[in-house]
Amino acid sequence: MSKVLILPGDGIGTEIVAQAVKVIDSLNSNHSMGMTLEDGLIGGIAYDETGTPLPDETIKVAKECDSILLGAVGGPKWEPLERALRPERGLLGIRSELELFSNLRPAILYPQLANASSLKTEIVSGLDLMIVRELVGGIYFGEPRGVEIKDGERFGINSATYYESEIARIGHSAFQIAQKRGKRVCSVDKANVLEVCELWREVMEEVSKDYPDVSLSHMYVDNAAMQLVRDPKQFDVMVTSNLFGDVLSDCAAMLTGSIGMLPSASLDQNNFGMYEPIHGSAPDISGKDIANPLATILSVSMMLRYSLNQGELADKINSAVSKVLDKGYRTKDIASDGDKVVGTEQMGDLVIEELET
Ligand code: NAD
Repeated sequence: MSKVLILPGDGIGTEIVAQAVKVIDSLNSNHSMGMTLEDGLIGGIAYDETGTPLPDETIKVAKECDSILLGAVGGPKWEPLERALRPERGLLGIRSELELFSNLRPAILYPQLANASSLKTEIVSGLDLMIVRELVGGIYFGEPRGVEIKDGERFGINSATYYESEIARIGHSAFQIAQKRGKRVCSVDKANVLEVCELWREVMEEVSKDYPDVSLSHMYVDNAAMQLVRDPKQFDVMVTSNLFGDVLSDCAAMLTGSIGMLPSASLDQNNFGMYEPIHGSAPDISGKDIANPLATILSVSMMLRYSLNQGELADKINSAVSKVLDKGYRTKDIASDGDKVVGTEQMGDLVIEELET
């Protein structure tokens, strides 16, 4: 039996998470998955109901669960709030409170969607890359930070900081994932300019000694950005810091055509994880039944594989999604001429139909 905290959040979050819950219900009924669900609040809706984007109750319940499924947070309604109360602070807060330091962002191109990519088919077809991003350190959290008055003018400051232990643990995470894949890690940094990256590179070399079956290479971030669009299939696992990973993983996501297709995981030291689609709350399409729920459904698959040790059920979900795409069904964001365009609800139903046949 596993217990999962469901945090739909804001915007399309509620619509797409509802489809993932239908998938969970189906696997519980037909494949004895044995997953129980708890509901919780995060983001704008949590602010509206409790005055904070991350209620203590959410953290308390999260700690009693085996895993978390999150939709998305944020929206224009909450933009005027002071920074500490904005929905996105809830997300940063839960990641850091639960020490979810390892963010796995796969960029997989389903062959059926090769023409949705902005790159030529031969460059992206068969792409299967995993970006491992450090998630709770680096410049997003470093001190000092802020905007102050210095020498009579406004002065902004953020600090890129890493302890060697923080680098080592994300390194181990990346090498262990590479062992289950193509056995190649590319560590991305800017060691030619930043001292913190010199340390990053040194520690990655040290960690690599524990994994003689995995090869390690290094790449500067500017080159990595270029290589991602020039020849993305050269990479197996890419490991990088919080800021570089944020940018590179969005770039990798676009290689696959739609951010509506990509799941992600954020793990702690013991593989407890929070799983979520990589996209945001998409206020522009919220409430219209057109959001793509597949990234969220595939997040359940990642959860089964990486946290709950139920890889066979993960494969079932992936195969059901693939069959739905084979049959030509698409939500609007991934549709081309001749496809059968369906809404959020119907896409969820189609995946369940495949799971149940
Ligand atoms: P977004 O990812 O929400 O949307 C970007 C574009 O992609 C939009 O055109 C949207 O319609 C489309 N899109 C996103 N998900 C889709 C889906 N499942 N199906 C079809 N189309 C989809 O990014 P944004 O517009 O920059 O941000 C909107 C809000 O989301 C902001 O408040 C932002 O802070 C928040 N946000 C939250 C997260 C998160 O919760 N993890 C991540 C990024 C942004």
